[in-house]
Amino acid sequence: MHDFDLFVIGGGSGGVRAARMAAQRGARVALAEAAALGGTCVNVGCIPKKLYSYAAHYAHDFEDAEGFGWNVQAPRFDWARLKANRAREIARLNGVYEQLLAGTGVTLLRGWAQLVDGHTVDIETAAGRQHYRARHILLATGGTPSVPAIAGRELAVTSDSMFDLDPFPRRLVVVGGGYIACEFASIFRGLGSQVSLVHRGEQVLRGFDDEVRAFIAGELARNGIDLRLASSVTSLARDAEGIRVQLADDGSLVGDVVLYATGRIPNVNGLGLEAAGVKQGKDGAILVDGHYQTSVPSVHAIGDVTARVQLTPVALGEAMVLADRLFGQGRRRLDYEFIPTAVFTHPNIGTVGYTEAQAREKFGRITVFRTEFKPLRHTLTRSGERTFMKLLVDAATDRVVGLHMVGPDAGEVVQGFAVAMKAGATKAVFDATVGIHPTLAEEFVTMREPVFTSS
Ligand SMILES: Cc1cc2nc3c(=O)[nH]c(=O)nc-3n(C[C@H](O)[C@H](O)[C@H](O)COP(=O)(O)OP(=O)(O)OC[C@H]3O[C@@H](n4cnc5c(N)ncnc54)[C@H](O)[C@@H]3O)c2cc1C
Repeated sequence: MHDFDLFVIGGGSGGVRAARMAAQRGARVALAEAAALGGTCVNVGCIPKKLYSYAAHYAHDFEDAEGFGWNVQAPRFDWARLKANRAREIARLNGVYEQLLAGTGVTLLRGWAQLVDGHTVDIETAAGRQHYRARHILLATGGTPSVPAIAGRELAVTSDSMFDLDPFPRRLVVVGGGYIACEFASIFRGLGSQVSLVHRGEQVLRGFDDEVRAFIAGELARNGIDLRLASSVTSLARDAEGIRVQLADDGSLVGDVVLYATGRIPNVNGLGLEAAGVKQGKDGAILVDGHYQTSVPSVHAIGDVTARVQLTPVALGEAMVLADRLFGQGRRRLDYEFIPTAVFTHPNIGTVGYTEAQAREKFGRITVFRTEFKPLRHTLTRSGERTFMKLLVDAATDRVVGLHMVGPDAGEVVQGFAVAMKAGATKAVFDATVGIHPTLAEEFVTMREPVFTSS
């Protein structure tokens, strides 16, 4: 009856993990991928972005080295070399993904796939058009950047193009205020571009703690990023100076490159959802129940295409829960509370749990601990960089319900604390924990005096 037990459409973070896990549990699995294996994260997301963030950090490191006695000759940055090294590493990872699939016996089909009905997939490969029947179908097609319909939008690029720009942009205008916009602004500023960031909101990074947002905005500006908040773009046009970005308030900016990072939409175009009867929500997001099942019982969806929590570890977690439910013991669960996350701005942001506003709303009375200081490292440098840390405690239970940091390696620091918070650690447990001295992280276990307890 069926060619496969599971047919996965999309070979990104979620799809590859689900295919491997299902195959390891004895299922006959096929995976269709239209582009490079590894999806957004490996090819145009987390990995290349973090590599470029490392590259950008060297700018500060060279400056800081002087205070520690090093004489560094004027460093020169070679954009072509960075791009080539990144491309080589990503190609290696593409190969690793292919081997992982082959190693678990997953049939890899290269081409664009679409649903015909709840058990049939149609795929266009180099060998021609094929139909496959499957007991279950998993949609893991991810998301794609969207650029609003403004005049001159064809002059804008999206995050997908930022890794291979040619030539290096001397002047970059970033439109958007989310984490992707802020990260690219930081990266290209570090690499030497003159960067402006235009955002229609009053502050960057909606959804993060308000004090974190204000603090990072200050740090971005201190690093030389020209922040244009509460400002919107009306049109783009090419003139003798470059790409002119017309702002609603009559002003304008000129860039060699204009990056639109104003949002991502689910990748559902041409997927055959209507034909198969799969219900969709806002922007086409595939609607799923608590078991990642769509309105068609044999069709499932995970990851960015469901437009819920759009992070690689979440797509991986959902993949493992689903594969376990369909082909394993069905014991795995994914809890969406206390998902830690980082923003690779300069400095980084790390956060887990509730923002102050959310915590007040959910818990009522909360106690807030906060500290801001010059990190030890910068006592010998000329950098004005500061570090910010904040803890939110539910006054009724003493449980730490929010932990936020802006500072070096904030993601690394917060990952460890996320375990404690997931385990329900109270402020008393934090207080009873011995710090590691001298580190930034120790501040989280030595904050004694609350700033206030809300009424
Ligand atoms: C610039 C940027 C930076 C990011 N940084 C981070 C970060 O630091 N940390 C983090 O956790 N997350 C980050 N993310 C988000 C992360 O990349 C995604 O959450 C994750 O990749 C989602 O995985 P997925 O499996 O849902 O989809 P994807 O990884 O997008 O994979 C979907 C795959 O499906 C394929 N496909 C789509 N339609 C079809 C079709 N019809 N037939 C065949 N193949 C198809 C696509 O080619 C793609 O390979 C970032 C995203 C971006 C854009």
